[in-house]
Amino acid sequence: MTIRTMCSTARLSRRDWLRNATAAIGGALAVGATLERANAVVKLSQKVVAYQDHPDGEKRCDRCVHFQAPNACNIVDGDVKPDGYCRFFGVRSRA
Ligand code: SF4
Repeated sequence: MTIRTMCSTARLSRRDWLRNATAAIGGALAVGATLERANAVVKLSQKVVAYQDHPDGEKRCDRCVHFQAPNACNIVDGDVKPDGYCRFFGVRSRA
């Protein structure tokens, strides 16, 4: 094997290595993006849960197990008012 052939082979190997590394990085980024999507929380729309911006008697968001102060819900999308209500209301247990 001549020096020229060896250099040519080495260059090809570097090119292959670079191509493989690029593919591996691309694959890792794709896996990362997929995992990020998998961790995303899917919430129900306010329309689906029949959200209303006023309470239903004693049932109100700030007394619900799903409420996240000051104005969020862990199962319903968008802002919810502390005195709002929806049909997924779940009474918060008192500790
Ligand atoms: S009642 Fe509960 S589940 Fe429904 S929007 Fe309010 S906090 Fe969320």
